[in-house]
Amino acid sequence: MWNSPVTKIDQIETMILDIPTIRGHVLSMATMRTQTAVLVIVRFSDGSDGIGEGTTIGGLSYGPESPEGIKSAIDTYIAPALVGRDADNLNGAIQLIDKLVKGNRIAKTAVEIALWDGLGKRLGVSVAHLFGGAVHDKLPVAWTLASGNSETDIAEAQQMIDIRRHNIFKLKIGKRSVRDDVAHVARIKQAVGDAASVRVDVNTAWSLQEARWGLKGLQDAGCELVEQPVPARYRRAMAELTSGYEIAVMADEALNGPEDALAVTKARAADVFAVKVAQSGGLKRASEVVAIAEAAGLGLYGGTMLETGLGTAAALQLFATVETLDWGTEFFGPLLLTEDILAEPITYHDFCVQIPKGVGIGAALDPDKIAFFRRDTGRTITAVAGE
Ligand SMILES: [Mg+2]
Repeated sequence: MWNSPVTKIDQIETMILDIPTIRGHVLSMATMRTQTAVLVIVRFSDGSDGIGEGTTIGGLSYGPESPEGIKSAIDTYIAPALVGRDADNLNGAIQLIDKLVKGNRIAKTAVEIALWDGLGKRLGVSVAHLFGGAVHDKLPVAWTLASGNSETDIAEAQQMIDIRRHNIFKLKIGKRSVRDDVAHVARIKQAVGDAASVRVDVNTAWSLQEARWGLKGLQDAGCELVEQPVPARYRRAMAELTSGYEIAVMADEALNGPEDALAVTKARAADVFAVKVAQSGGLKRASEVVAIAEAAGLGLYGGTMLETGLGTAAALQLFATVETLDWGTEFFGPLLLTEDILAEPITYHDFCVQIPKGVGIGAALDPDKIAFFRRDTGRTITAVAGE
C-alpha cells in the first residue's frame, strides 16, 4: 500500500509574553497588573505551523504552575519527546506526554492546542470541526468586576450593559471580611437589578463556617452563583454547601481534569462545572470533563485562565461544540489586556463572544506585538502580580 509521507513535528518554540492589564484585577490571592502568557509555536516538516498558549493567573498564587515553570516543562521534557513524531496523531502525542509528564496541565495544554491548530490548518478545517462540528457561532460572555471598589465596579457594570457587551457579572471576592463582601455584592446587584446576572468567585478564600454565612447572605442579595467558595480539597464542604443552599455552587479550582470531575460528581460537590481548558490539561481532556458534567446532569460554564486571544480562540473552538452552556462563558481574557496579540482580535457584541472563523483555532499572531511583549528580547514591563 502506498503511504503519503508523514508530517512530523520538527520544532517546538516557546516564549514568555508580559502584557499589561487595563486595570488592577483584584483577586482574593493576588492583584494582577500584568498578564503573563507562554506562547508555543510548533513547526512541522511540511512547512506548516501551529500556535498554542499556556497561561495561569497571578504567578504561583492561583495554582502549582508558573509561567516560567510552564516554559521549562515544555522546553526540557515535552518538546524533546515530541520532536520527530507524527504530527497528525494527536492521541499518540497526548498519551505519550501523559506517561512522561505528571501534572503540568497548563504546559501540556499549550502544546496540545498548537498540535490541534496545526492539524486543522493542514486539513483546512477549524478545530471545532475536528471536535465534531460547531453548534454555536457565538456564546454568552461574562465580565469580571474586580477593581476592588464598589462604586468603580457599578460604573463599569453600567457601562458594559449600556454598550451591550456584558450582562453577566462575576465579582471577585474573598479578600475582605464575609460581611463586607456580601454588602459589596448586594450594592452591585441592587444597582444593576434585573438587567444583569450577578455571580461571585471566592477563589477558595473561605472556611466552611465563613461560606455558610456567605452563601446565605449572597442568595438573599440576589446573587445567582458562587464559585469555589472553599479550598479545592474541601470536597465534603462543597457538597454540604451545594445541598444546603438554593444559590448554585460552581467548582473551579477543584477541577483538574476528568478524574477530579468524576470525583466531584460522585460526591455531589457542585451544581455547575467551570470547565477550563488549561486546568483540564488540554482541549481533549476538557471535552472529557464536559462529557462527565453532561452525563451527570450538572450545569456547564466555559472558564478562563485570562488567556490572550490565542488561548481564548482555542477554548471557543471547543465550547462552540458543546450543546448547552447553562451558565455561559467568561472568555473575556483579551478584553482585560491593553493590547491584543492577534492580527484579527476576537469580537464581542450583543452580550456574546463570536466564535473565530477560519482554519485551526481561527487565530493568527500579530508579529509586532509578539516582538514587543516577549520577555527575553522585548520591552521590560514591571510585573507586580502576587501583591
Ligand atoms: Mg474561578
